[in-house]
Amino acid sequence: MKHSDFEVVVVGGGHAGVDAAHAAARMGVRTVLVTLDASKIGVMSCNPAIGGLGKGHLVREIDALDGVMGRAADRAGIQFRLLNRRKGPAVQGPRTQADRTLYKRAIQDEVLGHPNLSVVDGEVADLLVEGGRVCGIRLGDSSEIRARAVVLTTGTFLGGVIHIGHERRTGGRWGERPSNALAERLRGLGLPMGRLKTGTPPRLDRRSIDWSRLEMQQADAEPTLFSFLHDRPFAPQVACGITHTNEATHDLIRSNLDRSALYGGQIEGVGPRYCPSVEDKVVRFAEKSSHQIFLEPEGLDVNTVYPNGISTSLPEEVQADLVHSIVGLEAATILQPGYAIEYDYVDPRSLNAQLELSALPGLFLAGQINGTTGYEEAAAQGLVAGLNAAALCLGRDPVTFSRSDAYIGVLIDDLTTRGVTEPYRMFTSRAEFRLSLRADNADQRLTGKGVAIGCVGEERRLRFEEKVEQLDIYRSKLMEARFRPTEIVAAGVDVSMKGPARSAWDILSFPDGTLDVVRRLAPDTMDAPAGIMEQLANDATYARYLDRQQKDIEMLRRDELQEIPGSFSFEGLPGLSNELARKLDATRPKNLAQAARIEGMTPAALNLILAKLRQNARRSA
Ligand code: FAD
Repeated sequence: MKHSDFEVVVVGGGHAGVDAAHAAARMGVRTVLVTLDASKIGVMSCNPAIGGLGKGHLVREIDALDGVMGRAADRAGIQFRLLNRRKGPAVQGPRTQADRTLYKRAIQDEVLGHPNLSVVDGEVADLLVEGGRVCGIRLGDSSEIRARAVVLTTGTFLGGVIHIGHERRTGGRWGERPSNALAERLRGLGLPMGRLKTGTPPRLDRRSIDWSRLEMQQADAEPTLFSFLHDRPFAPQVACGITHTNEATHDLIRSNLDRSALYGGQIEGVGPRYCPSVEDKVVRFAEKSSHQIFLEPEGLDVNTVYPNGISTSLPEEVQADLVHSIVGLEAATILQPGYAIEYDYVDPRSLNAQLELSALPGLFLAGQINGTTGYEEAAAQGLVAGLNAAALCLGRDPVTFSRSDAYIGVLIDDLTTRGVTEPYRMFTSRAEFRLSLRADNADQRLTGKGVAIGCVGEERRLRFEEKVEQLDIYRSKLMEARFRPTEIVAAGVDVSMKGPARSAWDILSFPDGTLDVVRRLAPDTMDAPAGIMEQLANDATYARYLDRQQKDIEMLRRDELQEIPGSFSFEGLPGLSNELARKLDATRPKNLAQAARIEGMTPAALNLILAKLRQNARRSA
């Protein structure tokens, strides 16, 4: 079969692939998404949910750059909940359970509806390489697609092996074949690769669960959506059930540990510490007599329920006993067994900040192939790889994100400088500037940058500009309205009577300075459209801390500007320990900020590198 040529080829129609292909297409570049089965574009391989702590921040950032995931999650969301609602906005994470069918449909509408984006069904078996650059792909039927950039987003499919107890079979995920030819090709390129594993729980039949015995958790009464373009859910909201494992469940697991694929020694790959299997939990937290399980409906019109918290690779008959030992699940029917999957990944330290392989220009990698786990981490990388593949074709500057700009920057920097020792997932604790990298202000941080890059459509640009204008107007009003301490105290805010007059903006930054207080003091500053005042209240709360954080951000930016050339030799640098020199040589940091984050790095060692860089610069001047 003869295919036309494209500028960007994206391989894989999962979460990384979709956001990569859409991003390249939004940049105005002719893009093709090649995937094993086009009807499965946008399938959620594991849990039917998007977002969460740290992950919700990534989705908001993807949305701020006009990516796909947030819009699709809003269309499919059937239980929106803002996690950590009682804590400050910096660590609150939007999350929703999703109807799988609606999610897939929303994603396919986005992909099939973009004029610059085509879809080809097929297995990519080989890469075309000419003059040391990738210039296209070869499909299993030997047909070729030539392109200037290729983005690989093959998820858990490379050399995928599924394990249930001692049974093993090849597969990319349940019911789908693995991608072995491409795995061989990548190994042949001499890339640093390893094996990782992850697991999923059995799926249950809703009708066989005794819901009357379960505590139920409702959606938020005031839902927080992902997309800055949406303000209310599209689908009806449903509750999920909560139950727990118990001593009987744990005894059963302990007595069958040797039959678990994860513990029986069949799997060489390392698993996710932060999404542990139920076997893992029982062994690692031996002192706990029960673990929580959320029973999440997989959709509005289906009978499948996802028991979140009991991912397992025990044999099927043990899985049935395990499930039946749990309150409410005594008669539950298993529709699909839980399983573990083991797959190849590429050491992400072989990528640069654009997610392009340093050893093979033109080839970008994104998603689970880089050692991450989770839809959100995959989509965020897809976005970065897609933007950069397009920038390469257009001859534009690379698109990069700093740790101080976005969680996306934290993700890419962690992966490319530190690598992974287990499947990587995002947490708010990974971001040192989390007071400014909030989910609520992702648009203020990134949409302007997206407009400048060229990946933001007209509708979002106009909405954003209007919002910025409103924020400016009402911020000024809040800053101009001033009150004496007596008035402020009378309104219920604890300030010193001897202190100066304060603006309404200052008052909002006090712990007890709520919007209600300001409404009482200065009603004429509060007639803004919905959402604007809440946003300003968040901004004011963090403004004082941000001033303090700004110095650290500036230091980071300065260090990021201090580039370390590829030819720089760490070995033999007087005063630098051999161990650090070896680590630096292996990691090859691109700038001083990256060098600073290498494990074991000391301020003294950084100073040595800086001094040498300056000396080299003086010599070549
Ligand atoms: P995927 O969503 O896997 O998509 C890969 C795509 O590439 C597919 O469309 C596939 O058809 C295509 N493809 C592969 N090879 C080729 C080829 N040669 N040619 C053409 N197309 C190809 N995440 C969590 O956060 N928590 C969990 O607990 C968790 N458990 C999981 C358990 C299992 C069993 C699985 C399978 C996944 C689990 N995940 C979990 C991970 C989550 O599903 C992934 O992180 C996410 O889907 C990765 O997105 P991706 O785009 O990188 O890959």
